[in-house]
Amino acid sequence: MPELGKPQNTIDIIKKYDFRFRKKFGQNFLIDTNVLGKIADSACIDPGDCVLEIGPGIGTLTQYLAERARQVVAVEIDPELIPILSETLAGFPNAEVIHADIMKTDIRELAEKYNGGKPLNVVANLPYYITTPIIMSLLEDGAPVKSITVMIQKEVAERMQAGPGGKEYGALSLAVQYYCDTEIVANVPPNCFIPRPNVGSCVIRLNRYAEPPVRVKDPEKMFKIIRAAFNQRRKTLANAVSHGGISGGNVGAEGNSAGTSGGTVGRERVTEVLREMGLSETIRGEAMTLDQFAEFSDRL
Ligand code: SAM
Repeated sequence: MPELGKPQNTIDIIKKYDFRFRKKFGQNFLIDTNVLGKIADSACIDPGDCVLEIGPGIGTLTQYLAERARQVVAVEIDPELIPILSETLAGFPNAEVIHADIMKTDIRELAEKYNGGKPLNVVANLPYYITTPIIMSLLEDGAPVKSITVMIQKEVAERMQAGPGGKEYGALSLAVQYYCDTEIVANVPPNCFIPRPNVGSCVIRLNRYAEPPVRVKDPEKMFKIIRAAFNQRRKTLANAVSHGGISGGNVGAEGNSAGTSGGTVGRERVTEVLREMGLSETIRGEAMTLDQFAEFSDRL
């Protein structure tokens, strides 16, 4: 089986099948054997592991993963790639291709079927147009995932690692940092792909914490607050949250003089909590740490 990471072998396959790259699927295939080896090695795959690959393309990275894992399950949306994958992965009986949209795939079911319900290692050169929704759903839906090693746009990696105060800091930073420890594995220039993307890329590894670094009574509520805060970045937290439909729990459900009505938290209660926490009433979400969001959510 030709090693697809070598540019000529990838070009040969593309010509043989008259494959047309589709921008709408974020198709930029890797053609650098060093980078491919680095992704596969940094995913820390044990020989007994099951890897979920998102978007195998023509199967280049899949070959590297199948050499290291017990089982690879590769979910690909583009029907044109399915016959190609049958050829390029013919020598890898432990690689299974599923023709589906990852956003509509039940990862829990895949873990049940291919890994006895145990958590999967996710590895991918992600399609950049849906990087954030894919990562958010892997983190927030409670999918059985132990680590995520992915090629993403450099700017998105910066957003994942950003701290309060900067323009990169947002809901993605807080979700990633609540669930995972992050590590940049490699910076990857555009000439490692065909076709070349217009942006710089990097490989990031996210290791899921056994216990999040911050204790919060209701993580779902905290993330609702975080989303409300960053959906309207220029608004103060008090404005964003009191217009964000956040439920105040038991107290709010009854409505009271502190400013809750119909179950949602009112502005008065929000400013009261900010005062209790010693924070300015005009603070914006972008200035708040994960710890502060957790405390704010609990007090609310
Ligand atoms: N893994 C290959 C490589 O490294 O050369 C291809 C990576 S390419 C950046 C992204 C791949 O994801 C493409 O094969 C594309 O068709 C696929 N893809 C895009 N959207 C998808 C989705 N919603 N579900 C599954 N695969 C998707």
